[in-house]
This record gives sequence, structure tokens and C-alpha cells, in this order.
Amino acid sequence: MKRGKIIVLSGPSGVGKGTVLREVMRNRSDLQFSVSATTRPIRPNEVNGENYWFMDKAQFEQLISDDALLEYVTYADNYYGTPIKPVEEAMDNGIHVVLEIEVQGAMKLFERRDDVISIFIAPPSFEELKRRLLGRGDTAQQIAEKRLRIARWECEAAKKYKYVVVNDDVQRAASEIDAILTAESCRSEYYEMILPEEEM
Ligand code: 5GP
Repeated sequence: MKRGKIIVLSGPSGVGKGTVLREVMRNRSDLQFSVSATTRPIRPNEVNGENYWFMDKAQFEQLISDDALLEYVTYADNYYGTPIKPVEEAMDNGIHVVLEIEVQGAMKLFERRDDVISIFIAPPSFEELKRRLLGRGDTAQQIAEKRLRIARWECEAAKKYKYVVVNDDVQRAASEIDAILTAESCRSEYYEMILPEEEM
């Protein structure tokens, strides 16, 4: 069985990564979402174990000292990290694992691993991102402004990813990601030619 790959999906807060990703996953059975650990407070409509594993600082630091994270960062004053075990298990079963992570953590992974398919989801424009981010009801103004400053820096990092998908339309963005994943699975390096035993 071919080993699964890591798919890193990044993009600034407010770009609609979650919505696009849900659409991609609805149409494919070879993907698993990596549920990250975080110390940020849970938002309305979020479910522990589904969106994130929500925990306190001490619990997160235990994961760090147990070497149980593939990567982790401090982002907007909270820890975020990818538990390694479910990622490895899924990959062993030929399933691709989608990591929806921010840019710094992604960069660390690009340095360490060569089995990463990297996709950056970009907003149609920075103005549009600002509108979406400041208009989001579940985040306080001050936090949204901090995220906007980070977003500017993150958009500058887009070129470090292999692919960039602009989210001006969810369906279109999702079908572009689907096309990328299909193209990646056809790369010649994954092809195992079945040849007859003897020369004909
Ligand atoms: P939010 O608080 O809006 O859910 O996420 C904030 C940022 O943290 C997003 O860019 C999200 O992709 C990123 N993030 C979520 N989980 C992880 C993780 O495990 N590692 C890293 N490096 N970033 C993460």
C-alpha cells in the first residue's frame, strides 16, 4: 500500500480555509483532518475533539515534553500543535492527512519533511480579508486587529508554498484543491510499474 502524504493547508485567519476544506473533504474519501491541540478558548459552535483538542497550558506543555507533537507554535498568545500519532497512523493506512496550520509551523515542517504537499489559500484581496476578519462576530475587535497584522505577514509567505489557491468562490477553490490532490497522486514518483517477470 502506498503511504499517505501530509497536506499542509495555510492561509490567513478569515480567508475561509475551514469552509473550503469541508467542501474538499465531502468529495474525497482518502483524506483525514488532523485535529490540533490548542490552548485557545473554545468558540461557540466548536466541538472538542472535532475542531481542536482544547486544553490548558500545562496539558499542552506535557505534550511538548512527551515529544508527542509533529510541530507546534505560539500564535496570538496561544499554543497550537499537531499530535503526531494520528498522523502517522493514517499515513500508514494510505490516508492523506490534512494539516490546517499557520505559516510558522508549516515552515518548520517543510524543513523537516519531504512528503508534504503545501497549499496556501489566499484572499481575493487584502481589503476583502480585512472586511471579513473585522466583521466576524465571534472575535473581539482587538484580537481581530492582531490577527490582521499576522495575516499581512502570512500573505507574504504564500510563495513558500507549492500551490496557491485564491478563495473568491468556495466551490471553485475546493475544486482547485481537488485537482491539485489528483495531480499529486499521479506523479511519476508514486508509480510502481508492474512488469512481467521475464523479458518478452
Ligand atoms: P484559529 O484560532 O482561528 O482556529 O486558528 C489560528 C491559526 O492557527 C490558524 O491559522 C490555524 O490554521 C492555525 N493552527 C491550527 N492548528 C494548528 C497547529 O496544530 N499548528 C500550527 N502551527 N498552526 C495551527
